[in-house]
Amino acid sequence: MNPNITKRNELLAKKVIKGLKTRNMTGYYAATKEEALKLALELIPEGSSIAMGGTMSAAEIGLVDAIKSDAYHFIDRMSYSDPHDAGLATFDADILLSSANAITEDGVLVNIDGNANRVSAIAYGPRKVIFIVGMNKVCNDIDSAMKRARNVAAPINAQRFGLATPCSLTGSCFNCKSPDTICCQFLITRYSRHKGRIHVILVNDTLGF
Ligand code: SF4
Repeated sequence: MNPNITKRNELLAKKVIKGLKTRNMTGYYAATKEEALKLALELIPEGSSIAMGGTMSAAEIGLVDAIKSDAYHFIDRMSYSDPHDAGLATFDADILLSSANAITEDGVLVNIDGNANRVSAIAYGPRKVIFIVGMNKVCNDIDSAMKRARNVAAPINAQRFGLATPCSLTGSCFNCKSPDTICCQFLITRYSRHKGRIHVILVNDTLGF
């Protein structure tokens, strides 16, 4: 990582972490992916049941491989024949791993979802939610965070899943109501009522999309 970018990320992360604190959430800054992995594992007691919200960022820091060890109970949604059953199992997990589509400089998390299994579990269910968020996802305010979610994250996800949406073809949002839209639910997490539930690890790297 370029040292000038690192310096900027360090300063920006301090601001985000301060904002998260005012919202009853806990932020951390990891200078490297390895440091992020260590921080995440320190937050996950051995024996925990762990579900995931389709996060690429957790995989990119090596966390998905790490939790597949015998020390944890990984709830693998791909092992369920019925996606609805997989979604319900997530609610009962000790830990949910997720990324965010965007986070504002003052600590508001923005996520969009088609099936809503991810955003509903972020909002309620698992006793602890750990976000792995690359500094590429920090946005100035809610407006820019929503724009990022809909014009960067959603089109890439729609392409990833081969969905027939306008953004799949053009790369930007057309505010569609197509049957394949992944913009069914928007979750803005501006405060956590439950102290110690939401943890956000900001990583000095470009993670996910
Ligand atoms: S509303 Fe439609 S076009 Fe816009 S990002 Fe979502 S799926 Fe793509």
